[in-house]
Amino acid sequence: MLQTTIAGSLPKPSWLAEPEKLWAEWRTTGDELENAKRDAALVWLKEEEDAGIDIVGNGEQFRVHFVHGFLEQVAGIDWAKKTKMGIRDNRYVVDVPTVTGPVARRGSIHGEEVRFTRAHTERKLKFTLPGPMTICDTIADAHYGKRADMAMAFAELLNQEARELEALGVDVIQFDEPAFNVFMDDVKDWGIAALHKAREGLTCTTAVHICYGYGIEANIEWKKTLGSEWRQYEEIFPALNKSRIDQVSLECANSKVPLSLIGLLKDKQVMVGAIDVASQEIETPEQVAATIRAAAEFVDPARMLPCTNCGMAPLPKPVAEGKIRSLAAGAALARKDFGG
Ligand code: ZN
Repeated sequence: MLQTTIAGSLPKPSWLAEPEKLWAEWRTTGDELENAKRDAALVWLKEEEDAGIDIVGNGEQFRVHFVHGFLEQVAGIDWAKKTKMGIRDNRYVVDVPTVTGPVARRGSIHGEEVRFTRAHTERKLKFTLPGPMTICDTIADAHYGKRADMAMAFAELLNQEARELEALGVDVIQFDEPAFNVFMDDVKDWGIAALHKAREGLTCTTAVHICYGYGIEANIEWKKTLGSEWRQYEEIFPALNKSRIDQVSLECANSKVPLSLIGLLKDKQVMVGAIDVASQEIETPEQVAATIRAAAEFVDPARMLPCTNCGMAPLPKPVAEGKIRSLAAGAALARKDFGG
């Protein structure tokens, strides 16, 4: 009951990349870089285990960006051909690479890092991949013509990768879909279908992480436009509840998402975000337990996994360490209440 986990990313140590900066470049190159990534992953596995996190991950220490880490190893993308694109429905405009031909994996993308991570922990292991819709909202299309078609092509590649990672011993494969609360009609039209293609044939647990993003400026401005209650999930949760994805994550700490919306996920395991990643204040275990208790009004604790609201990459490392300790300690307090 109340198995704890983290959404995905954790801060990079200062020897690997500039701290407190989202998508910071690597400090070094070549073999030295590969060794530095491995060292960073080991540090985080140890921190998670010592904190008492049940389902651990490598904190995404092997990638700069949660989408590009996957795309960098995909053929059919022209990285020099930049296209200006308003991503997340024009929340921010960025120069993105362009798909110019059929996409294909050049080979294993995350196999090596998973082999390494799996060899260094006995705990259940989670691995995160970008979701097909979010990939398509992060890259321009000069080949497929329809976004849904491009999403299906990427879903096929994600499926190939996911099958390989499952065979290497990953217990939970999580697809990150922050685009899901922006394009609600597309989620129902083809977003969930693309996730199903990405998870086809997997026997491990599958999860989808939807969220309102890191605490960066563009997101903070966007959130101001969403009103006092964020009800975007209300439109997509009924469809997600019917989906073949096992776990759904949502933010519950300092969030304007009404907790009652969790009630729409009655057939799913729910990752309840009990750690605010947009604040540097470290929650107390009592605060974490209070969030879990509040969520328990709408989801049976047997189906609940206390988690962070989102990734913690941009936070100072000691803050993230404190937050995962409080997450585990708070879950332990709540577990006592529920007799687990
Ligand atoms: Zn997130």
